[in-house]
Amino acid sequence: MRRFNYIAVSVAAALVSISMAAQDTVITSKKQAELIIPRPALQPVQSMEKVSAEAVDTLETANPHIRILLMADYTWKYIKDPSYVAAKEVFSEHWTHDYPDPYRESLESLPNEIGIWVVDSLSQYRCPNQTKVYSKFGYRHRRRHQGADLPLQTGTPVYAAFDGKVRLAKYYKGYGNLVVLRHENGLETFYAHLSKILVTDDDWVSAGSIIGLGGSTGRSSGPHLHFETRYRGYAFDPEWLIDFNSGVLRHRFFTLKKKYLNASSNYVPEDEQEEIDIIEGDTKDKEEAAKKAEEERKAAAAAQYHTIRQGDTLGALARKYHTSVKKICQLNGISERTVLRIGKRLRVK
Ligand SMILES: [Zn+2]
Repeated sequence: MRRFNYIAVSVAAALVSISMAAQDTVITSKKQAELIIPRPALQPVQSMEKVSAEAVDTLETANPHIRILLMADYTWKYIKDPSYVAAKEVFSEHWTHDYPDPYRESLESLPNEIGIWVVDSLSQYRCPNQTKVYSKFGYRHRRRHQGADLPLQTGTPVYAAFDGKVRLAKYYKGYGNLVVLRHENGLETFYAHLSKILVTDDDWVSAGSIIGLGGSTGRSSGPHLHFETRYRGYAFDPEWLIDFNSGVLRHRFFTLKKKYLNASSNYVPEDEQEEIDIIEGDTKDKEEAAKKAEEERKAAAAAQYHTIRQGDTLGALARKYHTSVKKICQLNGISERTVLRIGKRLRVK
């Protein structure tokens, strides 16, 4: 049985109407989520426009936590009031401005699969820096590389990928100028080597907010954004979530597998992963079948037979061959009351 540990995220069915937006529901299962979120919502999400319009006004909705943001280009979007999520434990537990990993948990304590809503109908996504990844997640010269390196010119804006709260914003060792954002679903995103930090600790940011400017501070050989995605302190390849080339977010709902939380677990395109799972599954089945066949072969090789003679009883045979009446009956498909005919061959072991 696969085990999912769903992170409950409040989602409003905002797409239907404002009154529908007033209902907010805590989703506890994927099935439930699929009933609320329309099918197309499960497709990959495009990054927000580079030039996003200015907000001109906000309107109330029936839900005091949800507002409508009116933009100068006559578009609008629903937004979640940060005070709505502020009380959530995710924004207070393991909350430190001092160092990158406040969790210090053992990997064993985490579930094998973690279901995560990356975005919902009230939140958006912005690719932090759309470009080709020039140094991937994984081992590099025997050093762990916990993120994806995305080249950019010094001074270029770096965008918050998702709505969240600034957990850390300072110069930190090899990271140089580092911003760490915590998101409602428990994920954290890291933005390193910035030339300038434009947010401070505990600020609320929304997807697409400029949190800093690209640079080459800390241990860096040239201007690039070092971007990390982490779950409870463990980094996983950000390419599982984002296709940096196109800027597209790969999943609204993402199943984070524990095996991804390993420095040598690179992103594998979905179809390939499926194939790998099938092959691994097949191999396992074959191995099990081979093991069973081998056991049967060994048992057959060790088989002993006895030809019934005058006076033989099952009890006497069991004693003679150091086995039990029950076992002999099982091997021959007979019962304890079966009459033993002289000359019949019985398997005794
Ligand atoms: Zn890097």
